[in-house]
Amino acid sequence: MAQVPFEFLHSSLQSEVPGDPIVTSGATLTWEAPGILTIEPHEQSHLPAAIVSVGVHGDETVPIRLVDQWLRGLVDTGYVVKRPFLVLLANPAAVQAESRFVEHNMNRLFSTQSSAGEDEEVRRARSLMRAVKWFTDRYPDGLHFDMHSTIKPSDRERFALVPPDCAERNLTNLMKWFQRFEVDAWVQNRSAAATFASYSARLGYLSATLELGQVSSLDEPLDRFLPLIAELDGLAKGPSTPSGHMTQGYQVLREIIRPEGGFEVCLEGFVNFRPLSAGTVIARGDTEEWVVEQSGDALLFLNAKVPVGHRVALVIRPNP
Ligand SMILES: [Zn+2]
Repeated sequence: MAQVPFEFLHSSLQSEVPGDPIVTSGATLTWEAPGILTIEPHEQSHLPAAIVSVGVHGDETVPIRLVDQWLRGLVDTGYVVKRPFLVLLANPAAVQAESRFVEHNMNRLFSTQSSAGEDEEVRRARSLMRAVKWFTDRYPDGLHFDMHSTIKPSDRERFALVPPDCAERNLTNLMKWFQRFEVDAWVQNRSAAATFASYSARLGYLSATLELGQVSSLDEPLDRFLPLIAELDGLAKGPSTPSGHMTQGYQVLREIIRPEGGFEVCLEGFVNFRPLSAGTVIARGDTEEWVVEQSGDALLFLNAKVPVGHRVALVIRPNP
């Protein structure tokens, strides 16, 4: 059993990481690089591997602190881990700066084209992609949960975005874990984006960007998120068992992209997933108007202040 508490967050922020693996009665933990940790079971596993990433956005401290606490318990108790893990603190520089990002929104950097250059976050994204590629080569069957939190209000407190590469796959195993994690809604995205979850999905994993819930500050109390630690323990200890939690599926109907020229968003008091009435005008440009087609359609990630050519919102529709 470990003599000193295992400090995932603290060690991840150091440029030097402990060189020797940590061997507990239930697993071996190895620092591959700062913020890049593997957990290997002592016995060969037949379960899909799992990637758990946090801190792609440095100010989203709830998932970071949850995973820190989860790993401390995993090491302290030494329980038997039944599947391999890759655990990542994605953007240590932004975590240290207590900001969403330093120079670039990291969740748009996970592709060859978008990660060219030498800025710190771009280099970090390349290291993370190399680590994920190495891990998925070793364990081709797996799940990836990229955990975030949001400051935006949402009618569905906890929700997941599933990248396009997963659209035609059997998502049963992913859905079982959504239930365990009490995910209220999941959205099948069909347009490509260079998110972290998209990257692992392209390598064959069942992946999701997981928004754990709305938070209002960096030191948001963890209490209401603590049940997730038991579920992460569950993920480490074996296959999922049904929880009965209802997770509503949605499809993306279209993206609203900001056009050239005049543009205004006509909705006020926007809330993610809030059902809208047919005929409601969402936004208006010089030559185009976006109107809700069917009552019950909703919006996700509305941001009126994006530059021309960027996404203003996703229009989504609940699956029947
Ligand atoms: Zn985020």
